[in-house]
Amino acid sequence: MIMNVKKIKAFGERIIQGGSITEGEALHLFSIEQNDELNSLIDTAHEVFLKKCSKRADLCSLINAKSGRCREDCSFCAQSGHYNVEVAEYPLLDVKKIVYQAIEAQAIGAHRFCIVTSGGRLSVEDFEKVLTAFKEIKKKTNLSLDGSLGVVGDSEIQKLKEIGVVRYNHNLETSEAFFPRICTTHTFRDRYETVSRLKRHGLEVCCGGVIGLGEGWEDRVSLAFSLKKLGVDCVPINILNPRPGTPLAGHEKLSVEEIIKTISIFRLILPTVVIKIAGGREVNLGDAQGLALRAGANGIIVGGYLTTAGNPVEKDLELIKAAGLEV
Ligand code: SF4
Repeated sequence: MIMNVKKIKAFGERIIQGGSITEGEALHLFSIEQNDELNSLIDTAHEVFLKKCSKRADLCSLINAKSGRCREDCSFCAQSGHYNVEVAEYPLLDVKKIVYQAIEAQAIGAHRFCIVTSGGRLSVEDFEKVLTAFKEIKKKTNLSLDGSLGVVGDSEIQKLKEIGVVRYNHNLETSEAFFPRICTTHTFRDRYETVSRLKRHGLEVCCGGVIGLGEGWEDRVSLAFSLKKLGVDCVPINILNPRPGTPLAGHEKLSVEEIIKTISIFRLILPTVVIKIAGGREVNLGDAQGLALRAGANGIIVGGYLTTAGNPVEKDLELIKAAGLEV
């Protein structure tokens, strides 16, 4: 299939009228190289965003409430206990400290606050502590409560729902075919099943992945279609920021064009979800962060990531307004 500006615009019209693109069509979009085609893809993704999404940017802030010492071996992750990485390691923070940070997040303009813990599954004691933190945050702020606590079973999901947790983050990370190349201690299916379980219980799900791991275009397309099948509500796109000490240290960075193209194609595959540019956006996109928001993304994580710092909040708010999004 030869891709040209006319064809790209026709995809946009089809999606705006309620249709969709196929995996084959999405894969062909990745072969775009000419500037006019890339510009057309960005414009088309923006049109789809304008017609299918709220203009209000989704601003999420997170706390790394338990850091490092993870038993899993995800090759991009500084928190994996399998690698010799200089990263802060600490057990679950005190409830008071978590709540304080939530209040601060609200003060800088965040809408959502996510308690994130490293590791596959929390102990019963730590899970109860996180529930207490959520209850306190609910009393003291208007923030939407989000969690990212690893694998959770039916009874844990029920408890989270009962205390008012709205959204849960659990990423697929990459395609099913590429997953064994980045992690050997659990499987893509483990992650997929957890996300399905969360959806069955009616929680909103934030689920995405990391690009720039060495995956091919077909892996990104496969990831996006898996997310579509799961009916996720929010898709964080992390861009590898290779951490010294991990197996991916020194890994070649993706070009800005490649990142922007990926975001636009995700918008065409997933027209109504929140697409959030997440970890690695500052180092990989630099001055092109605004372009990423024009290319179909409509959310960002503010106030820093799990193991790396982010933009100053004022700069992020300027970016959002310049991209025509509302805060
Ligand atoms: S991505 Fe999550 S599960 Fe994988 S090593 Fe990092 S903290 Fe552990």
